Amino acid sequence: MALALLGAYCWLVLDAWRGFKLLQWLRVGDTASTPLSSGLWGEAFERVRKLVRTRDRALVESDGRLQDFLAAMQASPNGVVLLDADGRIEWFNQTAAAHFGFVAQRDLLQHFGNLVRDPGFASYFATRDFRTDVVMPGRAHSSTKPVKLSVQLHPYGEGRSLLLSRDITAVEQAEAMRRDFVANVSHEIRTPLTVLAGFVETLQSLPLDAQERQRYLSLMAQQADRMQTLVSDLLMLSRLEGSPLPPVQEWVPVKVLMGQCQQEAHDLSMVLWKDAQLISFAVDEGYEIAGSMAELHSAMFNLIGNAIRYTPPDKSIQVRWRQMPDGSAVFSVEDHGTGIAPEHLPRLTERFYRVDRSRSRETGGTGLGLAIVKHVTQRHGAELGIASTPGAGSTFSITFPASRVRRMAQAVLSDTSVTVA
Ligand code: ADP
Repeated sequence: MALALLGAYCWLVLDAWRGFKLLQWLRVGDTASTPLSSGLWGEAFERVRKLVRTRDRALVESDGRLQDFLAAMQASPNGVVLLDADGRIEWFNQTAAAHFGFVAQRDLLQHFGNLVRDPGFASYFATRDFRTDVVMPGRAHSSTKPVKLSVQLHPYGEGRSLLLSRDITAVEQAEAMRRDFVANVSHEIRTPLTVLAGFVETLQSLPLDAQERQRYLSLMAQQADRMQTLVSDLLMLSRLEGSPLPPVQEWVPVKVLMGQCQQEAHDLSMVLWKDAQLISFAVDEGYEIAGSMAELHSAMFNLIGNAIRYTPPDKSIQVRWRQMPDGSAVFSVEDHGTGIAPEHLPRLTERFYRVDRSRSRETGGTGLGLAIVKHVTQRHGAELGIASTPGAGSTFSITFPASRVRRMAQAVLSDTSVTVA
């Protein structure tokens, strides 16, 4: 009996020891091995070990998925902010940080409305109608450099919301430019049209003699020409914006381009100034340029035409084509005309931007010439340079990269000796 009691006591002590071991092992959490491998306790250890390992693996996997998901949200070009039911910030990505000027250590768990105090957003948040977005200035917004954000809240879960922000500065600017452009075109067309309609009315209502009729008709022709030039410049611009880049395998002889320009320069100067201007052409012989003949001609003649129009008849103009030692080439037009004040220079290539509106109109300008030049230049991988001194004159230049300029083959060259007038 005493022996049986002693045996039971030993068994209990051993069991308590095993239980103690199990607890100790669970506390350490080492699932690589178990302290006991045999018997009932051994099996219990093994089963617990498997359960713990499966749970650990599931935890690692779900943490990995969460990290992947957060990395994807970080990579989003849109700002992403997660807000809790009270509107406090739980998480945001880098784009949102840049949009709103957030700093993680400082701003997490802060109320979004306390950090972003735009009145437009405040009333959007208060009305709780999140079907559309709200447009507000971004953190980096200033009067000289506007930044516009489109912000929308998307409710989810129990009172939580996902806030998405998108930088729409470029879209807004493009839209404003489109509106301005349409307004400008309408205005530019309406002016000659009004004049034309006035002349038609005069011709219809007044008994004019033949000479007067002739005078009115030639004034009408001038207005019609003006509209035609405007429409053809607009078409040129839209072709430049919508067509594929000019070919790199089509070579245009510089001499041919310059020859055409020289003839047209003479004609224009004749019309405007009775050919009293001295226009000289200095062209390096025998080179070709890769690109579109029509576009290159349009850009070059626009610069020459401007020089003729903004230079008084007693002053000279020099047109040059020079090869540079590095293989690039510079086409330049230097005039000694009115010149342009420095504050206008950055805006000259904007459509319809004019320094002297009436001078431009009087001489048949559309305000689109330099916009065309800029497009053609960019499309040919070239660079437009403008240097000007008010009262002294201007030099407009286009620098073509070496890859677009080559010397003509000898056989062709012998046929095209250059003219320097
Ligand atoms: P426009 O048809 O009015 O000449 P452009 O786009 O060709 O339009 O030129 C824009 C403006 O730049 C002109 O209105 C004019 O004020 C100025 N400009 C261009 N070229 C010259 C120049 N060679 N000398 C002085 N001003 C010029």
